[in-house]
Amino acid sequence: MYAKGTKDIDAFVSFRYTRYLKDERLQEEHLQGGNRKKVMKEKLKKKILGIGVGVIAYAVALGVSYHIDEMKRTQELILFLIPYIFLAADIYIEQLGEFRKRQFPDEKILIIAATLGVFFVGKPKVAVGAMLFYQAGRMVEELALNRTKKSIAEFIDIRPEYANLKEGGRERVVEPQALQPKQIIVLKPGEKIPVDAVVTMGTGSVDMKALTGESVPKAVKPGDRIYSGTINLNGMLEARVVKVYNDSTASRVMRLVEKANENKSESVRLVDRFTRYYTPAVIALALLIMILPPMMFTEARDEWIFRGLIILVAACPSGLLTSIPLAFLGGIGAAARQGVLIKGSSCIEILKQADTYVFDKTGTLTEGVFHVQETVPYKMEEEELLELAALAETHSTHPIALSLREAYKGTPDPERVGQVTEYPGMGICAQVDGKRVYVGNMRLMSRQGIFCHLVGRPGTAVHVAVENQYAGHILISDTVRKDARKLIRWLHRHELGTVMFTGDNDEAAEAVASRLKIESVYAELMPEDKVKQLEEFRDTQIENEKIVFVGDGINDAPVLAFADVGIAMGGLGADAALEAADIILMEDEPSRIINAVKISKATVRAVKQNIVFAAGLKVILIMLAIPGLITMQNAIIADVAVMLINILNSFWMLKYPE
Ligand code: ADP
Ligand code: MG
Repeated sequence: MYAKGTKDIDAFVSFRYTRYLKDERLQEEHLQGGNRKKVMKEKLKKKILGIGVGVIAYAVALGVSYHIDEMKRTQELILFLIPYIFLAADIYIEQLGEFRKRQFPDEKILIIAATLGVFFVGKPKVAVGAMLFYQAGRMVEELALNRTKKSIAEFIDIRPEYANLKEGGRERVVEPQALQPKQIIVLKPGEKIPVDAVVTMGTGSVDMKALTGESVPKAVKPGDRIYSGTINLNGMLEARVVKVYNDSTASRVMRLVEKANENKSESVRLVDRFTRYYTPAVIALALLIMILPPMMFTEARDEWIFRGLIILVAACPSGLLTSIPLAFLGGIGAAARQGVLIKGSSCIEILKQADTYVFDKTGTLTEGVFHVQETVPYKMEEEELLELAALAETHSTHPIALSLREAYKGTPDPERVGQVTEYPGMGICAQVDGKRVYVGNMRLMSRQGIFCHLVGRPGTAVHVAVENQYAGHILISDTVRKDARKLIRWLHRHELGTVMFTGDNDEAAEAVASRLKIESVYAELMPEDKVKQLEEFRDTQIENEKIVFVGDGINDAPVLAFADVGIAMGGLGADAALEAADIILMEDEPSRIINAVKISKATVRAVKQNIVFAAGLKVILIMLAIPGLITMQNAIIADVAVMLINILNSFWMLKYPE
């Protein structure tokens, strides 16, 4: 991933961004996916045809050899070469292509060597039979993989099919891709919402389950945002399009899940590396068996060569290679159905190893919905102070800004607001009626050299100053998420560390931490301090211990990108979160992390089971092959059986209970 110990935040963010851009290219490729599917089908057809002809030719050859008693060896070879060519052609072509690309030989080379050897050792019948079994196994494998991929896609297929566009008082059905921002769409009861939009008329409720896993419908009224992929349950709604189809939530979610598996996990890489040593090792062992014993005992030389060839077949790791990515795919699919988007199989593995959970406070452990408790003006009226604050915060999306605007009863006139500067972690400065108004914490005030009053009460004090004149403070407070308590309790039961990082003051931080029983608290951190602090943590960790950062994604992008696993809250609509985080909780419920951890554990367990099972059986088969206790056919049947069981085991991940 990224270099440990680097201080440059921008580098991380831009690193993530380049990866994102690369993904854009993948997205385009994905759009042409339809074509690729056709090509795949053609290939499969050709393969089935080749095998079919091969089987017929094999049957004919068997029949002929049965009727001729005394067949010459060369005649027999030629007779069985025909079915062999039909059956094995595609494997040879594939292998040659890989050699040309200088790829390392995989299990195909084993089967090629084995059947070729058996063929010329004088048992062409067996060689063709072995090739037939192997091909049948590969076919089953491919079908299983296709099926799983398809069913995952179906499971989470939230893409809408059509939209009702309202234009010039008339309504017509269009493709969701054709919609443009500001157009008006009509949503009838039971219809899937085609693009992200804002309700303009009507009330009703929306089933969010497909996106968030939340089963309680959400009530909507004019002004509310609705997301593509969710379902309008009752009521006729009219809505104004906000985002085109491709930028809408459903498309983004689908893209994330589909490409998640490209992010190779450690196990997959391990298996890749493993086959590099494994294949030559198996070939060496087989050669030893073929050469050494015949040198010691002169009789039964052919028998030993044959045993060496059986070892080649028995050692084939075919099923393992597909079952591992399949298990991760299943885990990602299972999580997606519960409203947890995992961006890659590597995140699953790291999450399983996580031992410290660091949380942002505002918006993550608390609801991020502040309410004004008290307005304490200094040399002005209460109403005036609130108005100034609300005006200065007109353009800010910070939770504090929302609460100040809400507390101010009137409607602020945006004409009065000029240039705005945000100071992340401190506050904001805006020109109001031509004067500079500062709204923020004590740090902002002291930065401007403004003396402000100390506030010794729990909550977050927002100080206001006009030019260099102190104007008073507004005390606001936030509520702790009940759901966060559930998560923290669970983490403690599993002896995992909990830490809180916040830009807020010590008192407010302590108040939240003590209610949630969070072990350690770091307050008054600037966004870049959060990264530095996390870095310090990481330096004290031993390998295999990983740090998770959970944040609300908008102002925490650098830390989310820097942590081993970044989990962002409420992915709905927040682009920054989707980009920077590794895992996205589609609903603002921290306790969903529990499910994500459980799924990651189950996935890793399935992968381990597959590896142990496949490796164990291979060892047994090889042990049986050395003293000649197993036939070539049985070795191949066992190989296919391992593959099927592993694939089924991975497939079950998809059925992981909610
Ligand atoms: P957290 O780390 O808890 O999510 P932030 O980094 O968003 O908090 O903000 C830290 C502090 O900076 C806030 O507690 C607040 O005092 C101040 N602040 C940040 N943005 C604003 C704003 N737009 N208006 C007023 N105060 C702000
Ligand atoms: Mg925050």
